[in-house]
Amino acid sequence: QADLFKKLVAHSKEYGFIFQSSEIYDGLAAVYDYGPYGVELKNNIKDYWWAAMVQMHDNIVGLDAAIFMHPKTWKASGHVDAFNDPLVDNKDSKRRFRADQLIEEEIDKIQGKADKEVEKAKKKFGDSFDEALYRTTNPRVLEYTQKAQAINDRLTEAMSKGDMAEMKTIIEDLDITDPDTGSRNWTEVRQFNLMFNTQLGNIAGEEGKLYLRPETAQGIFVNFLNVQKSTRQKIPFGIAQIGKAFRNEIVARQFIFRMREFEQMEMQFFIRPGEEMKWYDYWKQTRMNWHLKIGTPAEKLRFKDHDNLAHYANAAVDIQYEFPFGFKELEGIHSRTNFDLSSHQELSGKKLQYFDPELNENYVPYVVETSVGADRMFLAMMSESLKEESVPDAKGEDSTRVVMKLHPALAPVKVAVLPLLKNREELVKASTDVFNKLKFSFQCQYDEKDAIGRRYRRQDAIGTPYCVTIDFETLENNTVTIRERDSLKQERVHIDRIEEIVRQRVDM
Ligand code: ATP
Repeated sequence: QADLFKKLVAHSKEYGFIFQSSEIYDGLAAVYDYGPYGVELKNNIKDYWWAAMVQMHDNIVGLDAAIFMHPKTWKASGHVDAFNDPLVDNKDSKRRFRADQLIEEEIDKIQGKADKEVEKAKKKFGDSFDEALYRTTNPRVLEYTQKAQAINDRLTEAMSKGDMAEMKTIIEDLDITDPDTGSRNWTEVRQFNLMFNTQLGNIAGEEGKLYLRPETAQGIFVNFLNVQKSTRQKIPFGIAQIGKAFRNEIVARQFIFRMREFEQMEMQFFIRPGEEMKWYDYWKQTRMNWHLKIGTPAEKLRFKDHDNLAHYANAAVDIQYEFPFGFKELEGIHSRTNFDLSSHQELSGKKLQYFDPELNENYVPYVVETSVGADRMFLAMMSESLKEESVPDAKGEDSTRVVMKLHPALAPVKVAVLPLLKNREELVKASTDVFNKLKFSFQCQYDEKDAIGRRYRRQDAIGTPYCVTIDFETLENNTVTIRERDSLKQERVHIDRIEEIVRQRVDM
């Protein structure tokens, strides 16, 4: 499983799905960029969510609120005062974060020694210096690097299990003392605000302090009445939004699972007080079905009730997915009561109430929210679909292929159009004609480089469900072969049928 995860990270980079942010400057921790195929896959995930939530529900409407919000928003939501992540406020988690931080600093120190050696050698040997070779052969550099790696592995393992005893042993083994307290018990916890902040215009100090939103939900809450009135919705109704959120995560590991800049797909469903359990159950099931419908196997998904409820919730459950590093949260479903709306009403002095014509009364609605990370969903889809399999090659012998068995609706490229040979003008012309027609319907790709087998492999590696090959027979009777990614079946069909065949599987 650890091996699969490493392969997934390497594959993401090699095939243009995900790059480390600012890589040429050695990257920025826990920040990632989506490459050409990554952005397509992520957009398809977002489209699938939006269609299921907004398009399929006549009582759910969309919103795109700004990332910056009035600073009082975060006072009302509880994010300013609960200086740490309000969802994680049990003692154990805080201690774990602090210990993790100290161990990480130690790892950086050790790795820093290796890097220093390399820098020295670079200066000494100048242009002829082969850094990669030096890193893998110099005994001192190797020793430091391996040591840092070993501690990192232990830490990752302990963190993923929440193994406090092992964390303590690592701290002791490394002889780490807490620089703030001088203690090796590290029970002191430094308060750490997860929100990033910046300054508004030229207003100095607290007055002008602006936060980057740590969740998209608050943009929905403060717009509750604007949306309700402008769309004349009646309770129950929902507001859906996809957007960036920012958290200065302390424990930022595991690739795009925990990032400092990420994207959320959230929906707040406004309901009558007292009806929250009914809707909570409804959204639990509806959201689970959404995950199943895209092909995620049931045994890789489970509900996990929250042990500690956040300050705003009276019921909360996670939908967990079995990532290569274990079952972890993919989506949260929270019954948020009327905490947020009441809080905003109090702090803003503006009424955030709804007049219920059936009950003939005013009330502050209750809210059930569903919140799924677009990036975590992306990682789940990558983990689920990336396979290595043995298939017969052109000569009928066993060969390995790397294939992403993504649901066709999510695939970055739906059809690849491939001329059998690139140096035959008629084939190239016929192929570009097909491509130019299909591109109006799907994300297509034209590829003429390398032997046909290699081109198939490239398409397999990015998850393209169909490859259309134009050969000499095409020139005679307007038929092509269409190859299906998973079954490897090739069928000869008339050019006019390609669109219909592809459409059957790529539409949800
Ligand atoms: P966790 O317990 O993993 O920190 P959370 O409970 O804080 O997550 P929520 O506040 O419920 O998460 O956010 C809803 C969703 O947003 C999560 O289910 C997850 O998919 C996504 N998410 C939260 N934090 C991050 C992050 N740092 N990087 C990527 N996605 C995230």
